[in-house]
Amino acid sequence: MHEQDLKCSYCQEIFKTLPTTLSPCGWVICSHHINFAEIFCPICPDNHIVLRKNCLTTKNIEIKYLKYNVKDSLEKLDVKLEDMNQIKKDPEHYVNEFFGELINKIDIQRERVKLLVDNHFDEILKKAKASQSECQNRVKSNKNFNDFEYKEFKKKVETFQKTISENQISIESLTNFKNCQADIEKCFSYINELKDSLTDSKIFNITPIKYPIDNDDLFGKLLVSDKKIAENTSQDNFINEGLKPTYSHQIFPIKINQRKVIKAKRHPTTH
Ligand SMILES: [Zn+2]
Ligand SMILES: [Zn+2]
Repeated sequence: MHEQDLKCSYCQEIFKTLPTTLSPCGWVICSHHINFAEIFCPICPDNHIVLRKNCLTTKNIEIKYLKYNVKDSLEKLDVKLEDMNQIKKDPEHYVNEFFGELINKIDIQRERVKLLVDNHFDEILKKAKASQSECQNRVKSNKNFNDFEYKEFKKKVETFQKTISENQISIESLTNFKNCQADIEKCFSYINELKDSLTDSKIFNITPIKYPIDNDDLFGKLLVSDKKIAENTSQDNFINEGLKPTYSHQIFPIKINQRKVIKAKRHPTTH
């Protein structure tokens, strides 16, 4: 049996579904490519119409196809049996391998998350430290700061103190106190600005952690689902996929909605 006889003229692969002969041009293709009652011929350049009801199954090709399938399945079964034979000898090893792989994946994910967290904070720290050195470098050229004289301000304070030490209450003292208060405010502002100028007059802050944190979404979660249900559900997704077959890339993702809740077994109560 030549494999060439079993190749679909459209997808150029071994037939994945029953071979069908297109009418009237006679190309033999997998039947799943004809997914509507009427299609444009996928091979002939003149784009003629092919009606599904006019397509034929050629016995000769069908037999070859079925025989090939049986042979292929037998080979696969042989491999499966050998696999099971090995498992039978050491089931503990199989179970350990199975979960070993999962545990490995979990560990890798943990390392990835740690890396992400480290990278995140490394970046933030880098920015903070860069600002720190920029500010350090600017101290020398900060004229106002370098010109600041403690004694000069101390003298001002003494004059303010003098103003309030006067016991006499008069019209002037009203203006004096007002002026004095205003001058003190100016001193406050000046000193604050001077101090702020050392750190670029900017507020630096790290935003707090926002709770609740969705750990599942952030770090990934462990899903446990019934394999049979997961396979059946994903099979449905491949119906009506269009002309291009996706059968060779079938995957069976674990379904979120099939999540099994593991509950502790309750012990029967004795009366
Ligand atoms: Zn095909
Ligand atoms: Zn054709």
